[in-house]
Amino acid sequence: MGACASAPVYEGPHKQVVVIGGGFGAIATAKALVAGKSQIGVTLVSPLDYLDISWGTPRGLVEPNTAARQVVPYSKIFPSGKIAHKQNKAAKVTATHVVTDSGEELPYDQLVIATGSVYGPDSEAAILKPETGVGANRVEEIKALGSKIATSKGVLIIGAGLSGIEMAGEIAFTYPNVPVKLVCSDEAIGVKFPKSVAEGVTKELAKLPNLQVIYSTKASKADSEKYGCDLCFLTTGLKPVTGFLKDGVLSDAVDDFGYVGTTPELTVRDHPNIFAIGDCAYPGIFLNAPRGTMSGYQTVEACKATLVPNVIRALAGKPLKGVNAGKAGGVMTVHKKAGFGYMDKFVIPAFIVRSMKCPDAFREKTWKDFTGAKPPTA
Ligand SMILES: Cc1cc2nc3c(=O)[nH]c(=O)nc-3n(C[C@H](O)[C@H](O)[C@H](O)COP(=O)(O)OP(=O)(O)OC[C@H]3O[C@@H](n4cnc5c(N)ncnc54)[C@H](O)[C@@H]3O)c2cc1C
Repeated sequence: MGACASAPVYEGPHKQVVVIGGGFGAIATAKALVAGKSQIGVTLVSPLDYLDISWGTPRGLVEPNTAARQVVPYSKIFPSGKIAHKQNKAAKVTATHVVTDSGEELPYDQLVIATGSVYGPDSEAAILKPETGVGANRVEEIKALGSKIATSKGVLIIGAGLSGIEMAGEIAFTYPNVPVKLVCSDEAIGVKFPKSVAEGVTKELAKLPNLQVIYSTKASKADSEKYGCDLCFLTTGLKPVTGFLKDGVLSDAVDDFGYVGTTPELTVRDHPNIFAIGDCAYPGIFLNAPRGTMSGYQTVEACKATLVPNVIRALAGKPLKGVNAGKAGGVMTVHKKAGFGYMDKFVIPAFIVRSMKCPDAFREKTWKDFTGAKPPTA
């Protein structure tokens, strides 16, 4: 993964870019900004010291000895000295500075916000979006929950979106003696997927005798006992992490749902030197479209193709270019031996997903994309 081949190069006096966040949007941005002989100073404000490969977590939880494969230390992504990493959270954004929760003030010429989203703290789904700062501890946290899943008397998964389906499928497939209940608020799985993908996922889930899909139902963690479960993953209601913006220069930029609205060029509306991307942002190009935020993959692509070139154009005082919406869709593993995917109307043949993503949940591919190296074997 590097800067886009046609990306403009910044050749002016030293400028400082602050990137807030520690996931795919922030890391793809910081990495591309310091690529090659870039003279741009980059400060990364992230409470983590690693990139967590979120699409590896369901697999890491059922194969805890592979958990280290989803944790990519920043030290492997950034050659030493290329970025200044402040291992903190941003607490406030002013017109000229980011203030961290330790009170440090970080000046910026351009600012990028990529603080992502989280599940509620009350269920085990919180682990899908890490808070744990140190990579080694993140591995232990996944192993610990993995052990609980292995010996659980029942796992309740509320929400049959992508994360819910992957969690239910991986657990039921790996642990045939653990009953898994997947609560789906719709009458069918995957009402937003192409028909053949929805049918394929439904069929694969039905092959797992210990998995029960409970349709047309809404549930809460309090229902765990009723369903005979001692573990609950509430995989609904992802919330953008933008609370820290409410008391600062971007207080008006956050909508009622907590998203930062952006222009097609990915700047925050009315703030030409501040960009936002990923799960915390609502790109203006989708305002009249039946889809909302970008996927992780789209986020990385948009960082390379649009956001970073636009940051450089902005530093050079040149006009910015609009983002390409990219294709809607994704590639999902139901479990190690079954998966489905689509891009807009194109359905990816299941055998391709099975051979590409299912064996390792794209952890090796992601490691290679970000570091050029392979992940640890176990
Ligand atoms: C189980 C699962 C499977 C998925 N599978 C896929 C898939 O197959 N394909 C795909 O494209 N997408 C997938 N996704 C979605 C994808 O992971 C997200 O779209 C992507 O992680 C979003 O990246 P982000 O950088 O916007 O945010 P995040 O990954 O949420 O990262 C945000 C970061 O910001 C940090 N942060 C928060 N607050 C602050 C603050 N105040 N200051 C500094 N830092 C802060 C957080 O610590 C975090 O590291 C999956 C997600 C999950 C949970």
